Amino acid sequence: MIQMAKELIKASRKPVVFTGAGMSRESGMRTFRGEDGLWKQYSPEQLSSIEGLRADPETVWEWYRMRFMKSEGVKPHSGYYALTALQNEKGYLPVITQNIDGLHSEAGQVDVLEIHGSMRTASCIHRCGYSVALSRELVKNLPPVCQKCGAILRPDIVLFGEALPQDVLMRAYNLAEQCDLMLVIGTSVKVWPAAGLPFAALDSGAKIIEINPVQTELSVSKGVISIRNNAGEILPVLADHRQES
Ligand SMILES: [Zn+2]
Repeated sequence: MIQMAKELIKASRKPVVFTGAGMSRESGMRTFRGEDGLWKQYSPEQLSSIEGLRADPETVWEWYRMRFMKSEGVKPHSGYYALTALQNEKGYLPVITQNIDGLHSEAGQVDVLEIHGSMRTASCIHRCGYSVALSRELVKNLPPVCQKCGAILRPDIVLFGEALPQDVLMRAYNLAEQCDLMLVIGTSVKVWPAAGLPFAALDSGAKIIEINPVQTELSVSKGVISIRNNAGEILPVLADHRQES
């Protein structure tokens, strides 16, 4: 199975990567759903919607500051660097991710489509055009405000009740329909509309290599090579062509 996957990758002219929470989790990134301690009293709507942010910017920003602080030390695992090497080698490997942590870019990848936005930047809630990198300095005094118009800032992630960025999503679907191979890594393939991407690729005749310790709906589909393993272990093996050359 590994050998088959390696050959598919080697032969592919238009590969695409699609990652989900499992990829981040392997790096130690936590997924926060408001279940811990003092955050338990707040609903997801209060902490993660634009209305919640408007109603109580200080509390909501405290929540994002906590998440930012906890994710600060998280580093990309070896699977990320294997993808970077593969991207450099192929000269073409768009990366579509549902993750908001920026680890793909941190590992040196380019052409990363963050369909659920990014936790690394914040921008003006009034969309005046002001945008800034999230930093300890920025979240020292809460809530952080726009340096251009004085309104509060919002994290650049897709909030509860908001639509996904349509231009990014449209390009992701175009890539899925045009690719000849999609590496689907660490995603439960359950959160729509992102979950439709691998199926769009399959429908267009692409092959899929799925890397996930857990079986998903995709695992049993035709045209899918499903490798039940961690990305950090298997990607360096798949991206290594030394034995063949
Ligand atoms: Zn502004």
